[in-house]
Amino acid sequence: MESIPEDWQRGLVIVAHPDDIEYGAAAAVARWTDQGKDIRYVLVTSGEAGIEGLHPRHCGPLRETEERRSAAAVGVTKVEFLGYPDGRIEHGPDLRRDLARVIRLHRPEMIVTMNHRETWGPGFLNSADHRAVGLAVLDAVADAANEWIFAELTEPPWTGVRWVAVNVLLGLTHAVDVTATVERAVESLCEHSAYLEALSDEPVLDQAARQIEMSTGPRPGFDAERAVGFELYVFGG
Ligand SMILES: [Zn+2]
Repeated sequence: MESIPEDWQRGLVIVAHPDDIEYGAAAAVARWTDQGKDIRYVLVTSGEAGIEGLHPRHCGPLRETEERRSAAAVGVTKVEFLGYPDGRIEHGPDLRRDLARVIRLHRPEMIVTMNHRETWGPGFLNSADHRAVGLAVLDAVADAANEWIFAELTEPPWTGVRWVAVNVLLGLTHAVDVTATVERAVESLCEHSAYLEALSDEPVLDQAARQIEMSTGPRPGFDAERAVGFELYVFGG
């Protein structure tokens, strides 16, 4: 198992929902911001359908606030929400165009996104939003680089994406040593306190610590006490 390349400066994390980054990938983000890298977050929805009993009108703003706090806990200050409907994101030209636009705006060398496959492992369905966003992010790298596919975009094409790291549990090809940053990943997930309190009666800190423990275990063939795994896609750059 190889390390994720770290010879880059600008990274963009694109996911469907507030909390998607915090269930593991944030430990890698903390390591990278400690190295002085510029990391920004783009959330396709505001997660407004995520809390039972709380109307989306109130839930969306609450979850945006929690996401901004989570980001700050790992050194990320730029967080953007695209306003797609939570639970009903569709893969297609509209989503690809909007993601191509944000890639052109932020000009990342490294993009991090969520698992786009149908399952997390045998018998564990991945959500429709995660499938749509992950695949559209991969597609949007080429869209951002091409001046003609979405000719209506006014931002100049960006051809500098070198990698997309897809956060997966199975089928990983690369990993990041997060031994030094797991505690900050726990703090980052704890910022989703309203969400976690609605999920379970277990104290927020206990839930967060348990989740991060599960998502940052040692990886076979990778020399680190704690690691986050990715499937790495390589682009021209
Ligand atoms: Zn999600």
